[in-house]
Amino acid sequence: MSPAESLLRQLPSVDELLGRPVLAARCRELPRALVADAVREALQVTRAAIERDPRPELVALERLEQLAVEMLERWQQPSLRPVINATGVLLHTNLGRAPLGREAARRVAEAAVTYTTLEYDLEQGRRGRRDQHVAGLLGRLLGAEAALVVNNNAAAVFLVLHTLARDGEVVVSRGELIEIGEGFRIPDIMQASGARLREVGTTNRTRLADYEQAIGPATRLLLRVHHSNFRIVGFTGRPELEELVELGRRTGLPVYEDLGSGALVAPAGLEEPLATASLRAGVSLVSFSGDKLLGGPQAGIVAGRSDLVQRVRRNPLYRALRVDKMTIAALEETLRDYLLGRLDRIPVLQMMHIAPDVLRARAEALVAALEARLGSGLCAFAVVPGQSVVGGGSTPAQTLPTWVVRIRSRRDSAVVLERRLRTLAPPLLPVIVRIEDEQLALDLRTVFVDQQEALLASLVAALQ
Ligand SMILES: *Cc1c(COP(=O)(O)O)cnc(C)c1O
Repeated sequence: MSPAESLLRQLPSVDELLGRPVLAARCRELPRALVADAVREALQVTRAAIERDPRPELVALERLEQLAVEMLERWQQPSLRPVINATGVLLHTNLGRAPLGREAARRVAEAAVTYTTLEYDLEQGRRGRRDQHVAGLLGRLLGAEAALVVNNNAAAVFLVLHTLARDGEVVVSRGELIEIGEGFRIPDIMQASGARLREVGTTNRTRLADYEQAIGPATRLLLRVHHSNFRIVGFTGRPELEELVELGRRTGLPVYEDLGSGALVAPAGLEEPLATASLRAGVSLVSFSGDKLLGGPQAGIVAGRSDLVQRVRRNPLYRALRVDKMTIAALEETLRDYLLGRLDRIPVLQMMHIAPDVLRARAEALVAALEARLGSGLCAFAVVPGQSVVGGGSTPAQTLPTWVVRIRSRRDSAVVLERRLRTLAPPLLPVIVRIEDEQLALDLRTVFVDQQEALLASLVAALQ
């Protein structure tokens, strides 16, 4: 018998392990089947370890028991955890894009745990419509005849194309066939919607005549897409939105603009198309995300001509893409903040407007606190000018001036520290940072003031 075979035979049974005091105690707190699963998994990883390297200590009962306990503890930890975003990327898609305001979050919590008027008309005492809660607000804010909300902007694009252009052609410039990330590609969405792509022009230049020549009996829609995450520079050009609108009017075709981020107010110092401007220019329909520059929950907003919005709503797939009451609660509160001019309640807008001097003072205070806790023997700190990034598919290469805390350790490389910071275990919060010039770079623009103590604790733990 090989050493591995003899060790495998010595492994205890599941029942034997479940009878051990520590695991028996867990069985009184947790479902026995779950504890048994943990034991099976501990045995399985141990078998694999024995095959690789047969060492007698692998089969020790205490070790197996401990392994099962660790599995159980891992299963009890939430997977979706809060983190500190010290990257300075405001709309960080991987970190959940826009954080909601406190009031919006409170409305979500309230809607979550009670019955609500989601689809109930209190006046009439009968069924209402779930979009009524935000449709009026959106109409007022956007100057749109009608609006509706779906799960996200990808769903909005899909639903609009499926409703208005299925089995027909959609004319779009070659310069706008974008990929946003995670496989959201305009040509793929188009294909999935059953609409045929009619590409016109070239990557860098498309003329109005290119659109005109492509229009035929099968054409259903003229599509305009925000470039989002890239920029074309140099010898470039595309028709003004007004020209496209005029062409649509002449040919009786609706013009639909996928705005991507779709700002409701002009963000200071950023060039971002306003949804209101597109609608005022005469675009038939626009769509944009709820959790990009708008600063609300994940959602896709479709707004524009009432007859077209009604058609989109009547599409049976709307039912599959609509939002739940928690999204409506968050979106309603966020939109009401815009309506009432309470923009300081919207975290993304608030963070965008923090003055560089304030960020510098915060960065210097953090460095002073770190030096007080760690001394200056192990790490070197500096506060240097830098750039925050808006992100989230808003026009790229647009940055906001900031001050960055740079940290260099004499013991650990930046790569080691970056990893240590993001893998901190609870109750410490993981910190997500950038590396610049082989140093840690922290931008406090995206760190909430009430997270600053937690940031200090996490940094001290990782740097010590
Ligand atoms: C971000 C973006 C989308 C996708 O929006 P989600 O809300 O993430 O689904 C679609 N189109 C454009 C132009 C975008 O920038």
